[in-house]
Amino acid sequence: MNFYTTILGSGAALPTVARHCSGQVVNINGTRLMLDCGENSQTQMRIYHQKLQSVGTIFLTHLHGDHFFGLPGLLSTMHLCGRQTPVDIFAPAGIAQAMELFMTVAGSHLDFPVCYHELSHTEGCLQVFENERCLVSAFPLLHSVPTYGYLIQEKPRGNNPARRYAYCTDTGYTESFLPYIHQVDLLCLESTFDSSFASVAAEKLHCTTVQAATLALKAEAGQLLLTHISARFKEPDKLLAEAQAVFPNTLIASDGERYEVHYPTA
Ligand SMILES: [Zn+2]
Ligand SMILES: [Zn+2]
Repeated sequence: MNFYTTILGSGAALPTVARHCSGQVVNINGTRLMLDCGENSQTQMRIYHQKLQSVGTIFLTHLHGDHFFGLPGLLSTMHLCGRQTPVDIFAPAGIAQAMELFMTVAGSHLDFPVCYHELSHTEGCLQVFENERCLVSAFPLLHSVPTYGYLIQEKPRGNNPARRYAYCTDTGYTESFLPYIHQVDLLCLESTFDSSFASVAAEKLHCTTVQAATLALKAEAGQLLLTHISARFKEPDKLLAEAQAVFPNTLIASDGERYEVHYPTA
């Protein structure tokens, strides 16, 4: 059974040719869920063979531009390509108002329904989505605006255990959400800075490589995938080495790459 994520953008707020702003498409046995929709996500989807119309459910972590400025363009293109089927969007409160303003000033309309599911809980982990293949829950992170991490869990088939994938960005270091990602099979966590930027990370509410690896270790995650890498770091191997010193089973995300959510090793 398939369960993997394709990275559209692994960069932080400042997009570069090598790393675009945040975006992923998760495939769970044919269900495609989009996580974040930074600028240029629709172009990245075309480059990396992710069919635009195959995505019907989008989860935004927060409303900083590098996580959602691609949404008006993606929805507009879906409309231009004749979409009729609905799109569900899960995001912090404010998304409906923001999108309505975009559409009004642009004089745009969409021929398909868009349903906004606004999140506002400030603690706990709430299930927000379910279909025949998976469950998705949202929990608050620590950032300068309301921000949610998402936990995607497949529904087991036969004797297979249910794999789980967590996507947590943007966040400063906090152990508040560790209970929700305990023993997750693949943990995609922001790592905006290297360890020498710890004070900047604390001030801006982002994580360093070492902090991300420490969270993965404490969560007893199966594998760590670093993302949201600042444009100032041109040598990913150095970031990776810092994280691997704390949590060896770490990867660093690259745009266009696909990362499998593996079954736990006994
Ligand atoms: Zn960001
Ligand atoms: Zn942010």
